[in-house]
Amino acid sequence: MRILLVASEAFPIVKTGGLADVVGALPRGLAAHGVTARLLLPAYRGTAERVAVDRTGSIALGDLLGVGHASLLPFEHADAGLRGWLLECPALFDRPGGPYLDERGHDHHDNHLRFGLLSRTAALLATMEGLTGFAVDVVHSHDWQAGLVSAYFEAFGGRRPSTVFTAHNLHFAGRFDASVLPEVGLPASMQRVVGVELWGSMSFLKAGLFFADRITTVSPTYAREIQTEAGGEGLHGLLHTRREALSGILNGIDDQAWNPARDAALAQTYDAGDSLLAGKAACKADLQRQLGLDLTPAAPMVGMVGRLTGQKGVDLLLSALPQLLSTGGQLAVLGSGEPALQLALHSAAAHHPGRVAFVQGYDEALSHRLIAGVDLLAVPSRFEPCGLTQMYAQRYGTPPIVRRTGGLADTVLDADAHPDAGTGFSFEAPSTDSLLDALMRAVSCYRDRPRLQAVQRRAMSLTRGWTKAAKPYAELYRDLLGVGSRTV
Ligand code: ADP
Repeated sequence: MRILLVASEAFPIVKTGGLADVVGALPRGLAAHGVTARLLLPAYRGTAERVAVDRTGSIALGDLLGVGHASLLPFEHADAGLRGWLLECPALFDRPGGPYLDERGHDHHDNHLRFGLLSRTAALLATMEGLTGFAVDVVHSHDWQAGLVSAYFEAFGGRRPSTVFTAHNLHFAGRFDASVLPEVGLPASMQRVVGVELWGSMSFLKAGLFFADRITTVSPTYAREIQTEAGGEGLHGLLHTRREALSGILNGIDDQAWNPARDAALAQTYDAGDSLLAGKAACKADLQRQLGLDLTPAAPMVGMVGRLTGQKGVDLLLSALPQLLSTGGQLAVLGSGEPALQLALHSAAAHHPGRVAFVQGYDEALSHRLIAGVDLLAVPSRFEPCGLTQMYAQRYGTPPIVRRTGGLADTVLDADAHPDAGTGFSFEAPSTDSLLDALMRAVSCYRDRPRLQAVQRRAMSLTRGWTKAAKPYAELYRDLLGVGSRTV
């Protein structure tokens, strides 16, 4: 079975968040189930230099959207087990900035064209077996950037593969004025409720959710939450109507990249056995030193890694800070995002030197050292489709403190509520009090060494690799082929 994965990022080639981790690890997981996956990724500035490319195999696509010539460049990243095509279109992708934002942090002005072309190309690639030698059975699109694929199939008709659309975060809807439809080569008639319309705009995400044969999201709880008004970002009606086509498949983690026994970023590697205590202690001391925190081995050290947005609840953590500090604790945060939250974290660090550290930016190696070095990892998200850092923390023997929402609810069992099975701490309400309750319970567990180690060892023994996590995707693809939806 041959799958074309379409996405705007894939680790280790280009990453801004969890989407890249999933797309970059899924192909290896699928291979274990007899599924061959190829990737279609935009060639942003510098992307082609991070993979092995075959320029002689380049396929010219012409000027599909009237914005500049595009071509498909076959690539391979052998270490990560990734193969596929880079979509080259210098007019759209060869520029400074990141995948979505320009150098000043604003959306690229032509994101509808950039990601419209990604989807348009995927729809074309899926039917050009003669040129690529890869007959696509299922096109699997990820997030709004790849949301238009099945809209193009719908618009053009003819033979097509089956389609799956995965929503990694419904909050990002890829909304644009309806006038962009002709610019991306879709009929204006698609701008209706039974089409791509969302609250008067057109939405790439809505297109994916509406037209794909199957929809998945990244945890069973989030799949239920998005069918409610509170969690559906305005799409709950559609998602409820399509519930037979919708499933929640829990993300896995890359257990090679995230393995405390072999992690080259750590001061000292360790596993769940005898090396646990000494390994964690060495990583904590190293982190304290690197971040300029007091070298107090017994201070309960709480960490957080992630995008600094309202979603992630960093404001809740900041309001809980005085009480954490009153227990003798420390806080270490790595992330970037909303200026007001960055400012608040810088100010907390300035007010509590030696006790609070904030590293603004994106640093893959430091994220490993932080998750290994802290005693507890906070993930107080207001909503969380799946969340990955809590699973990394569990694998590194760092009990996570999470709000019981989305994938956090599916991956963390509270150690007080489940004394023999707990793998972290969780709280229900998105409030400081509720977070504080879980935080204080976690700190008292941290001070009870035998109990802490039982929680750590249970968390570290969870099997979360993609070999297991990819199985439901392989089954979904097989199921789709079984129903034979190869033509419109
Ligand atoms: P989201 O996709 O909503 O940002 P996830 O928890 O699903 O959240 O995934 C975030 C991924 O990005 C994780 O791999 C996390 O370690 C990584 N990450 C987020 N912020 C940073 C940062 N500042 N430095 C390094 N890695 C980061």
